[in-house]
Amino acid sequence: MTLDYATIHLCNALLNLSYGGMLLALWFKRREVHLLYWASSLLLVSAAVYGFTLTRNSFVIPALVAAVAANISLTWAGARAFDGRPPFHWLLLMGPTATFFGHLFLASAGLKILANSFSTGVLAVTVTAAGAYFMRHGSGFARKAVGWVLIAYAPVYVASIVLDVAFPGSRLSSILILAGDFVLNNAFVVGLFAIMEEKAREQLRQLAVTDQLTGALNRAGLLAKFPSGNITDARTILLADLDHFKRINDTHGHSGGDAALKEFVVRVGGVLGKNEVIARLGGEEFGILLASTNLNDANERAEQIRDVIARQPVEWNGMSMGLTTSIGIAVSCVPESVDDVIARADEALYRAKRTGRNRVAA
Ligand code: GH3
Ligand code: MG
Ligand code: MG
Repeated sequence: MTLDYATIHLCNALLNLSYGGMLLALWFKRREVHLLYWASSLLLVSAAVYGFTLTRNSFVIPALVAAVAANISLTWAGARAFDGRPPFHWLLLMGPTATFFGHLFLASAGLKILANSFSTGVLAVTVTAAGAYFMRHGSGFARKAVGWVLIAYAPVYVASIVLDVAFPGSRLSSILILAGDFVLNNAFVVGLFAIMEEKAREQLRQLAVTDQLTGALNRAGLLAKFPSGNITDARTILLADLDHFKRINDTHGHSGGDAALKEFVVRVGGVLGKNEVIARLGGEEFGILLASTNLNDANERAEQIRDVIARQPVEWNGMSMGLTTSIGIAVSCVPESVDDVIARADEALYRAKRTGRNRVAA
């Protein structure tokens, strides 16, 4: 089998052109900046790989190697943009700068093999760092897989250095890199799409359990805190209903009421512990999950919540809205259905309302 240098370069350039074009088309449609980084990364490497077949010019070669390094930096910058970070980081300049000047300097000193080894070594380090970024930030299988794919480039680069030193002047080393790239680059691009899909799926999952007005959990989100909708571990549920909320709406308008609902969630969130959550179950009614199952504790916590709402009015649009809440407590020590516990909290809440509001009942 003969692997022809020019053919394998052309095929690789066409493959990268195709992937780059696909991501660019997607960017035109979605205008998400990470797509533009990833598209330009693949288009740039496509041009660079084709460029290697056109010239051996000692100024152009370092530029082509630097373009390969820049392709890794653009992949990395795209990942940063994807994560909502500023895409640029000074570390991203290191690869292209080091490869360009290092290669130029060593090659013009007549140390061609050393020049190749140096810039390939820099590529190995850069691609490992980019892979580590993918693995360390974000979660999910696709994310880890893409990280590993990038890191897998490093041994290919190292092997190509060995070939370069063992068979000086042969083109085996660059053929090895491109053969490796055929395997890894396909996995990489499929992985990028999987990462985007993974994130979109996670966003949908979040949306399905979140109350859009307040950002608290919704009813489904609260139920999701229990395995199979049953309380299998001991917990306390508080049911809180804002008092005379119709009056707030009547006096301050619906937007005033909405502002009060948001402030309620912020204030309660401020006094909740790590394993405790608040969910908006409907209108101006909230379910609060407490970690403790001691009734005295639960009472104290409910009082704390009642007080953090009543203590000072909600300031909104230059107006002061007095807000109070009534709270019903239901402690659950044995496995039972969440609905049953909520029903018990609801009875307690009714008692709190009937005995004057702005109070806690169990
Ligand atoms: P009570 O002390 O007995 O609970 O009196 P209340 O006025 O709070 O009584 P009720 O529960 O019957 O009224 C709830 C009101 O909450 C009725 C509805 O207009 C209002 N509401 C429900 N959802 C929203 C919302 O998303 N935004 C606003 N601004 N108001 C809402
Ligand atoms: Mg109410
Ligand atoms: Mg109500």
